[in-house]
Amino acid sequence: MAKQQFEAESKRLLEMMINSIYSQREVFLRELISNASDAIDKMYYQALTDDSITFNQSDYYIKITTDKENRQLTISDTGIGMTKEELESNLGVIAKSGSLAFKKENEIKDGYDIIGQFGVGFYAAFMVADQVTVVSKALGSEEAYLWQSEGAEGFTIEPTEKETVGTDITLTIKENTDEDDFDQFLDPNQLKTIVKKYSDFIRYPIKMELTTQ
Ligand code: ADP
Ligand code: MG
Repeated sequence: MAKQQFEAESKRLLEMMINSIYSQREVFLRELISNASDAIDKMYYQALTDDSITFNQSDYYIKITTDKENRQLTISDTGIGMTKEELESNLGVIAKSGSLAFKKENEIKDGYDIIGQFGVGFYAAFMVADQVTVVSKALGSEEAYLWQSEGAEGFTIEPTEKETVGTDITLTIKENTDEDDFDQFLDPNQLKTIVKKYSDFIRYPIKMELTTQ
């Protein structure tokens, strides 16, 4: 399948993410959880104004699943989901907030300040993952789509199956190196600590599930 290209600015941000320093990497989880929470907010407001949606409080949650054997970490939400077009436009370009920060890049040497001070968004996933897949089904849509990328080379989108509305983001976590411990992002206890540190204020339950040892 032909790869679609990221916008030039996005590509530069992506490269910066990939080369980020060790201590900054854990913020990827904050970014993905905050996106999940935003998506559930949108679903929540839709449900308030649309009588045809019956949604219970317990339907709104974020789930973190680890699969150590396959080096996979999945962040799932029961949010509003994304259509094919939204996957393409929202994940193919850097978001407004991020791009504002990015414009200041010339004054910032190695990207440290961008990652530390601004929300770097979805692309933060590439600080810890070799591959990112997003399976999403939008509210009101019958179809689900799979967005997939290995980083700066671009991304593909294809139809897939998903029963419920929402989004599953799966990261294939990088292999450990001599200097870098990526295995921590497959360990539920370590993940819990990171969630507590950065996402304690999130108003939806964050569930943790361990699929394989
Ligand atoms: P920001 O959150 O600042 O808009 P991000 O890079 O974090 O920037 O996300 C880009 C966009 O991708 C979001 O604005 C949203 O439209 C979409 N998005 C990301 N994650 C999700 C998700 N889990 N569910 C629905 N939409 C999402
Ligand atoms: Mg975000």
